[in-house]
Amino acid sequence: MAASGEEIAELDRAAERIGIPRLLLMENAGSSVARRLVGRFGSCRVLILAGTGNNGGDGMVAARHLTNLGCEVCLMLVGDPNAIRTEEARVNWNICCNLRSIKVEVYSSLEDFLRKLNWADVIVDAMLGTGVKGELREPFLSIVKNLNESGKAVVAVDTPTGLDPTTGRICGEAVKAVMTVTFHAPKSGFAGRDEYTGQVWVEDIGLPRELELEVLGRKLEGAGGGPVLVSACLLGVNCRYDGGNSLSERVIQKISSVFFLPVCPEILGGLPTPRSPNWLVGGAGKEVIEGRAKVINEEGQDVTENFLRGAREVLGLAQKFGVRRAILKSGSPSCGVGWVKVKGQKIIGDGVTTALLRQHRIEVISDDEI
Ligand code: SF4
Repeated sequence: MAASGEEIAELDRAAERIGIPRLLLMENAGSSVARRLVGRFGSCRVLILAGTGNNGGDGMVAARHLTNLGCEVCLMLVGDPNAIRTEEARVNWNICCNLRSIKVEVYSSLEDFLRKLNWADVIVDAMLGTGVKGELREPFLSIVKNLNESGKAVVAVDTPTGLDPTTGRICGEAVKAVMTVTFHAPKSGFAGRDEYTGQVWVEDIGLPRELELEVLGRKLEGAGGGPVLVSACLLGVNCRYDGGNSLSERVIQKISSVFFLPVCPEILGGLPTPRSPNWLVGGAGKEVIEGRAKVINEEGQDVTENFLRGAREVLGLAQKFGVRRAILKSGSPSCGVGWVKVKGQKIIGDGVTTALLRQHRIEVISDDEI
């Protein structure tokens, strides 16, 4: 489940009560932003726009890590250095001021900001985080408008400035990021807001998972940062045996705010589209993997090897990208979850790919469960 801004704040407080310093969480947040940025853009010139709260503090930590990763960094505080609102942000501001490798500035005018914007390859938006109330005010409003008009790549920290991460409300104007690095869990307000969030990475910053049930009464989803694996046909890709798809609006809505990886195991196993219908014979996916069942097509050809190859290819991708969860198409001899169709009948068991993913502890749910 996605989280609200207040729920994450509650987890922060609970973590502090058991002795995890906020400074440590900030360090993890900022370093993950730096890693994601360099992972996508390489070493480049980065302008970090930092507010005076903890979101700004995350940006200040990122500044330090970005210079270590070979970036040229300008850190611009949008606010008064004497009005930095949290102890953790103040500590990190002072560190940045003490480093020669970071060019530290305080926002003074729109013209000055535009000069810096022109200089940078990538912008980090660490201005306003979860606590935005009401409409954006100056100078944030003009900064956001100019950022969006500039066409420059923006990486948002936790949430794009101006987007309420809990409700998805746009506070008059909001940053349109190409990537948002958010922490611990995807935020409820990101659903359907891809235009503003861009690609969403969910980073684990060290908040203990065990606190979720205790503090919130439920488990959250999405930490770990791996994408969600999805049957491509559910997204409208025409990869079904009959050349059609199984488009599911529910699935699209569910995954719209997270990074996902579409796959079609049968295509990855070398089968064409369209293709004959295929049937499991002698058991379900687990038995196929164990060599005790086969997959036979309508013409009576044995396509077991194609199904196994496709399942292994999907598993390889899942391992490469750190996938922990998958949403696969119900009933399919490859993707079925809990049951598969055999000539109009249901048999209990998983499809071949689902069985292999589950053997490797990847959680699989079907589109029916969304
Ligand atoms: Fe491909 Fe799986 Fe969809 Fe079948 S159910 S078309 S194997 S993605």
